[in-house]
Amino acid sequence: MQTYYQKEIETMPPEKLRALQDEKLVRQVRHVWDHVPYYRAKMEAAGVTPEDICGVRDLHKLPFLSKADLRDTYPYGMLAVPLADCVRIQSTSGTTGKRVIAYYTQHDIDLWEDCCARAIVAAGGTKEDVVQVCYGYGLFTGGAGLHGGSHKVGALTLPMSSGNTERQLQFMMDLKSTILCCTPSYAAYIGEAMAEKGIKPEENCLKAGIFGAEPWTEEMRRGIEKSLGIKAYDIYGLTETSGPGVAFECEYQNGMHINEDHFIAEIIDPDTGEVLPDGQKGELVFTSLDKEAFPLLRYRTRDICVLDRTPCPCGRTHVRMAKPMGRSDDMLIIRGVNVFPSQIETVLLQEGYAPNYRIEIDRVNNSDTFDVYVELLPEQFSDTVSAITAMERKLGDALRIMLGISPKVHLVAPRSIERSEGKAKRVIDKRKLHE
Ligand code: ADP
Ligand code: ZN
Repeated sequence: MQTYYQKEIETMPPEKLRALQDEKLVRQVRHVWDHVPYYRAKMEAAGVTPEDICGVRDLHKLPFLSKADLRDTYPYGMLAVPLADCVRIQSTSGTTGKRVIAYYTQHDIDLWEDCCARAIVAAGGTKEDVVQVCYGYGLFTGGAGLHGGSHKVGALTLPMSSGNTERQLQFMMDLKSTILCCTPSYAAYIGEAMAEKGIKPEENCLKAGIFGAEPWTEEMRRGIEKSLGIKAYDIYGLTETSGPGVAFECEYQNGMHINEDHFIAEIIDPDTGEVLPDGQKGELVFTSLDKEAFPLLRYRTRDICVLDRTPCPCGRTHVRMAKPMGRSDDMLIIRGVNVFPSQIETVLLQEGYAPNYRIEIDRVNNSDTFDVYVELLPEQFSDTVSAITAMERKLGDALRIMLGISPKVHLVAPRSIERSEGKAKRVIDKRKLHE
């Protein structure tokens, strides 16, 4: 079986990889300086010129780029080639505000699809596979990225897009899909819908799933693996860096390998901007190395994670990133305590609930209210009121231990919380309405 999509690059010795990055970085910086006046002005303000950047060791001299910069330069202020050389536009899903658009030359698309192909092959994909892509198609990068990657692998590609779960199941069974690609929340929903139809996990032909585009926990992974009868792989990316495929899991699932021949990853302290050593938790920053239309130097992702350079048994030499536990701007500050929705999800799954929940925060009389709504499982629904009150108390205690503050837990009827076909929206912060 094929183990790598681009073996020579994916297993390149670290010194050689570094030399390749050095050489590409010098070129990419020069390209930006020559063609993106906005970033050139930033460099000038920081007193840096392309001559100061001789390789990765000089990266720290370059100024950061943030989402605010991309919004300020919307739509074409970051364009580094003539617009006539671009062949595609994609856009963020706008989870945290105004959409950002990204532009691609054919070369940019090729490299992006190669990255997604690496992820598919790492999940065991070959030309014999039937890849069902139910990430959204359109402006969102999920559908386009995995679709292109699947073509590159030579697999039979089902461009389903998200939604119409009934039809997803029918095609999955009739066409014998072997690899499923979608958001983890949609994968969980598909698993649920399959069970409702009475289809057992072993009755489908799926062997693997490639799930990403939103944070998900290890507990959720196990739940999806069980309900679909597959091995579930994580994939990471963002529109700004092309889309999914910047990093992906191999069979050992000990972090996602970052495609370091195309991106340099750094971890910084989000407050001071200081570069942190490998192994420390901080904000992930990417520098692209090969992008033509939309190159990014030191782009702050706001995703919080850790890098790991210890060797991976799969033979890939590229650095691994831990699952991002959420974005710095996903973090809720409730009564002065930092809370990540992913922590709540971890507790729910540990306590045996499904990942169907909603978090509501509000401010009443200058004090934060914190409510967590969680669905009961169908078999718990018939329990008595006193049994349910006791369960609410038990879950509340578990959440308090994890978070350091106590939410009010509400167990609600099965299926009463809206399902997601794309990225799940689980937090309603009403405090913003009062500002
Ligand atoms: P938006 O910012 O509007 O959601 P994108 O669709 O480009 O735009 O989403 C990129 C973001 O999605 C990443 O910055 C990250 O926060 C999140 N993300 C993508 N893949 C993963 C993953 N595997 N695990 C956790 N978060 C992810
Ligand atoms: Zn590996």
